[in-house]
Amino acid sequence: MTQERRQTRTITLGDDRTGRVTIGGDAPVSVQSMTSCYTHEIDTCLAEIEKLAAAGVDVVRVAVPERKDTEALVEIMKVTPVPIVADVHFHYKRALEAVAAGIHKIRLNPGNIKDREQVNQVIDACKEAGIPIRIGVNEGSIIERRDKQKRQSELGAYFEGHRSGHLLAIMIAKLEEYLEIFEARDFHDVAISAKSMDARLVIDAYTEISRRFDYPLHLGVTHAGTRETGSIRSIAALGTLLANGIGDTLRISYASDPVYEVEDGVELLCSLDMRERKGIELIACPTCGRIQVDLFTLVEDVKKTLETEIELPIKVAVMGCIVNGPGEAEGADVAVFAGDRRGIIYVQGEKVANVPEAEIQERLLAECRAFEERVRAGEASLGQKVVDIVPPDPIGDLGSGVEKIRAGMVEKITVEGE
Ligand code: SF4
Repeated sequence: MTQERRQTRTITLGDDRTGRVTIGGDAPVSVQSMTSCYTHEIDTCLAEIEKLAAAGVDVVRVAVPERKDTEALVEIMKVTPVPIVADVHFHYKRALEAVAAGIHKIRLNPGNIKDREQVNQVIDACKEAGIPIRIGVNEGSIIERRDKQKRQSELGAYFEGHRSGHLLAIMIAKLEEYLEIFEARDFHDVAISAKSMDARLVIDAYTEISRRFDYPLHLGVTHAGTRETGSIRSIAALGTLLANGIGDTLRISYASDPVYEVEDGVELLCSLDMRERKGIELIACPTCGRIQVDLFTLVEDVKKTLETEIELPIKVAVMGCIVNGPGEAEGADVAVFAGDRRGIIYVQGEKVANVPEAEIQERLLAECRAFEERVRAGEASLGQKVVDIVPPDPIGDLGSGVEKIRAGMVEKITVEGE
């Protein structure tokens, strides 16, 4: 159940050429990622930005540790297909140079720029140019690192009290301190992030911040690891927050190709019904002892081909058998049910083929392509007819429970938003 979205101020970034992305308020939750190459290698950087854009990213962040990186921004800003954020650490001049290069947003941790006057210069430059700033109080950037003893005692206090203790308090205190700097200069074009590698702390931190501040929130689990573990940590934290109405933009971060970050961020939003799906939605059974074909290979191959060929959000089901498959594939436009080394293919509830295992993939793909053509020609609509096969009775003598509901024996359930 998704709770009502928490209302925040908004920030907007982009220009006429890239289009503008609004973060916060009622704006759709956006997906961000970060390039993994050197920004000064302009062609490589632009190729990566374009790859991320093709995967569905809304905003891309680039690191600008050196002067040559901010110089490269001048060229990158001329052709980037999506709004760009400059990630600035330590050198306030990189922020000023990025603003001069026409950057759309700055990411800054005021704590790692020593001189307050330098921070003020960045704030004033952004204010004049109408550029928002994301302030980070990420775990990694606010905990004492030089004094190991102090750090140990800080972290020790956190782990002793566990979850929502000391570290969360440091994050909130730092955030208040940082925001005072911005608000003192009447600058409110701000988004906030409070990332950690600990999914539970991320949930606690953003929940607490959303209670205290009305700035838009950039969600993320940082240093989440490889895609395998990182996706679980990220989805656990970000899914929980989004379902609670918290979060206005997100980055899923992996020690891997950033395209995966975008793919998984987009899928998370589609799964929560927060973004309209583009391209196919694949339903596949996990398989069990009833399986009689090589379903894993079939699903992988079908997915790869359909992702590149099909643009419409056709729901495709690949099911291992006729026992539970029909129930699980309900709502699919195109479905295959395997059994006895054969595949029975349905298109919007109509059985169209019964083919041997070796021919399943080719026939299924052909049916998907033909169905997309019919939808484009106005001869069929997505989700119009559902798979409706009568499987063996899965309920038996116990009945479906409808009688109990009718008799008022089941407490009424209200689903918010429906
Ligand atoms: S659809 Fe059939 S094969 Fe697949 S998991 Fe369900 S029961 Fe098992």
